[in-house]
Amino acid sequence: MAELRVIIAGAGGRMGAANIRALVNHPGVVLHAALDRPGSSVIGRDAGTLAGLEALGIPVVESLDAALPGADAIIDFTAPAVSVALAQRAADTGLIHVIGTTGCTPEDDAAIAAAAGAGARIVKSGNFSLGMAVLSNLVEQAAAALADYDIEIVEMHHSRKVDAPSGSALILGEAAARGRAVSLEEKSVRVRDGHTGPREAGTIGFATLRGGTVVGDHSVIFAGPGERLELGHRAEDRSIFANGALRSALWARDQAPGLYTIADVLGLTQSSRTSS
Ligand code: NAD
Repeated sequence: MAELRVIIAGAGGRMGAANIRALVNHPGVVLHAALDRPGSSVIGRDAGTLAGLEALGIPVVESLDAALPGADAIIDFTAPAVSVALAQRAADTGLIHVIGTTGCTPEDDAAIAAAAGAGARIVKSGNFSLGMAVLSNLVEQAAAALADYDIEIVEMHHSRKVDAPSGSALILGEAAARGRAVSLEEKSVRVRDGHTGPREAGTIGFATLRGGTVVGDHSVIFAGPGERLELGHRAEDRSIFANGALRSALWARDQAPGLYTIADVLGLTQSSRTSS
């Protein structure tokens, strides 16, 4: 089969660099173009040297139109408004769209789902690591089995992260809510401050820590009478997300238009289709 020709969007970012590094070492894919924000200081720079590699002879461009001809897929770890716009272009052009961007509002997610309904093949996940996909399954099972235990989700990320709770924390919250057959929107407690009163039974709490260069730590605590179960994941390197995104792009080549998650790619579960 021909190599998949991939555009990396957000090439100048932390994940953009990780995506370029993963791509050049991955069989079956080739870097077709690198894209970043119009006016960014990385426009015109070589995508390889930007990612800490040897020069690849591919300068970062600011226009999707310049990158599109001949491309098969776009891997996009940028910002919500960018991902929504790219999803619409993917519907128009048939480009496979892998979205790692987090912090999307319900309206953004609806627009992305609409693009998938209009013909785009989109794989979207707040965490593209294999370990997190497995953890989500375990959390769903534990939430169902420990039906009256209190659930708290704790996450820590580097100091430059702009959204909270993390996309991965929300994936774990959705998994816990599925296990309990409740709506996360109705049951989540995202902030506690001041005189909060006792904990309301059945809620799913979130705690957000920010600092340093932490790539991504997540723990889900099930606190019951006389015992606590803790399930956790630590991302040590961004390559785990980049490899999952690449695997998703290759997988999507054989799929019908629609909105998928990394769990679909890994064949882990049908129920996690809503966790994006
Ligand atoms: P970053 O700020 O380092 O990089 C974002 C890049 O996107 C920047 O280079 C920026 O200039 C670029 N960008 C902005 N507007 C653009 C446009 N119109 N066109 C093209 N590029 C544009 O951020 P990061 O740490 O790389 O994270 C990016 C996103 O990925 C965040 O939402 C983060 O939470 C998410 N993330 C997801 C996963 C996952 O597995 N899903 C893992 C890590 C990070």
